[in-house]
Amino acid sequence: MSDKFDLIIIGAGPGGYVAAIRAAQKGLNVAVIECGRAGGTCLNRGCIPTKAMIHASSLYREMQEGGRFGVTAEGVSYDYGKIVEYKQETVDTLVGGVEQLLKSNKVTFIEGKGTLMQPVDGVNAVSVGGEVYLADNVILASGSKPASLPIEGADLPHVVNSDGLFELDHAPESLVIIGGGVIGVEFATVFSNLGSTVTILEALPKILDNFDKEISQNLKMILKKRGVDIHTSAMVKSFADNGDGTVTAVYEEKEKERAASGEYILVAAGRRPVTEGLFAEGAEPEMNGRYVKVDENFRTSIPGVYAIGDLTGGIQLAHAASVHGIRAVEAMTGSEATVDVSVVPAGVYTDPEIASVGITEQQAKDQGIEVLTGKFIMSANGKSLITKEERGFIKVVAEAGTEKILGAQMMCARATDMIGEFTTAMVNGLTVPDMLLSIRSHPTYSEGIGEALEDVHGMSLHTVPRPSRK
Ligand code: NAD
Repeated sequence: MSDKFDLIIIGAGPGGYVAAIRAAQKGLNVAVIECGRAGGTCLNRGCIPTKAMIHASSLYREMQEGGRFGVTAEGVSYDYGKIVEYKQETVDTLVGGVEQLLKSNKVTFIEGKGTLMQPVDGVNAVSVGGEVYLADNVILASGSKPASLPIEGADLPHVVNSDGLFELDHAPESLVIIGGGVIGVEFATVFSNLGSTVTILEALPKILDNFDKEISQNLKMILKKRGVDIHTSAMVKSFADNGDGTVTAVYEEKEKERAASGEYILVAAGRRPVTEGLFAEGAEPEMNGRYVKVDENFRTSIPGVYAIGDLTGGIQLAHAASVHGIRAVEAMTGSEATVDVSVVPAGVYTDPEIASVGITEQQAKDQGIEVLTGKFIMSANGKSLITKEERGFIKVVAEAGTEKILGAQMMCARATDMIGEFTTAMVNGLTVPDMLLSIRSHPTYSEGIGEALEDVHGMSLHTVPRPSRK
């Protein structure tokens, strides 16, 4: 039996490491158990490396399109190995920063796989490689991993998930992506930018099914224009090796069997919580299917044991896991909640970017909520015209009567940054007039937010009046 801590956290991803730092700031004696590197999926295999790849590949595409600004470059090329190096340097810097922060906050870092045990003499216990550690509180933050498809050929060498795709030493000549969700469209952006032939096969009738319908339609059009072949209502049934360095995905579309081949197949069909080896016998908390069941403070059914992030189901986003961790620490220390975990913005790093928070007009309709809406097309936004990123729009949804902001959807440059304005408005119960009180600098993309808000009352200054307007 070894040390006793106030808090042991299993997993040092964006949920676990943030919880560790916040707990240490509050004076708790904290240990984090991690079997990989600090930062989890987000820093090592998810958000950060993908965004780096998107940045590099978009730069390559933009350099070829520089003629639009009177700037031309000849012989523009890329070195895939160097792109990977830049991605890895970015990851290493951030991971190093997190490790340093854990150290300077005096968080004990224990390498290995943590398993929640049955309490020892009424105190929570976690084992790591045979060693048992005790703690008053435990946070389970083991995250998620790519889901594999239970179909024939899923284990073929050229059928990879997002982790496997990062291992490649070259950009595939052709790539078939299974799943038109967030991972699917982000990797389609990277590899179509780099000149690969990309096909997306999506089982549902639209890509990015959770997003506003207009966003899905626009993105489909933009990706198609860049040469991405997109098939929706296309359910993939099996994979086959063609024996010539290519693989084939067999899918059903409009009741017909079809096939799409490529050098690699990327399976981007969702993620599953990591629970293997997480619980010793008799130490499993109440579950909700595959996920750990938690209350609004992320408490599990076991006293003193919390679970956060992807392990709990719901929205699988790094920033959601982080605020779960903060809330769990606040709950265990008896502090007031400082974050509203119910309003979670989402962003997709396609080009243009996509972001959303709260509900869409359609969701309001489905829920029987009467709403007012405003929309601004970014082709009338000065900054968007300057940078030639004028495709896209900003939509706002407000409750009829009170005009409280209920949601916003954006597809435009810097959407993933700008969505924050609506998130702040929602958690503070701001209304359309409240948001319009503040001046937005000129020329900025955020002027589009003001125009969308003004459009709720048909008063957008840079929108041609609609015929119906009196
Ligand atoms: P997802 O659930 O967003 O999309 C998976 C898609 O695969 C679905 O649309 C589903 O219909 C489709 N699919 C499943 N089986 C199929 C089959 N047999 N044939 C054809 N299509 C099939 O999952 P994802 O894209 O893998 O992402 C996983 C999680 O990671 C998501 O929750 C996502 O929000 C998160 N993530 C977020 C970001 C970001 O915030 N920018 C980036 C990457 C991932």
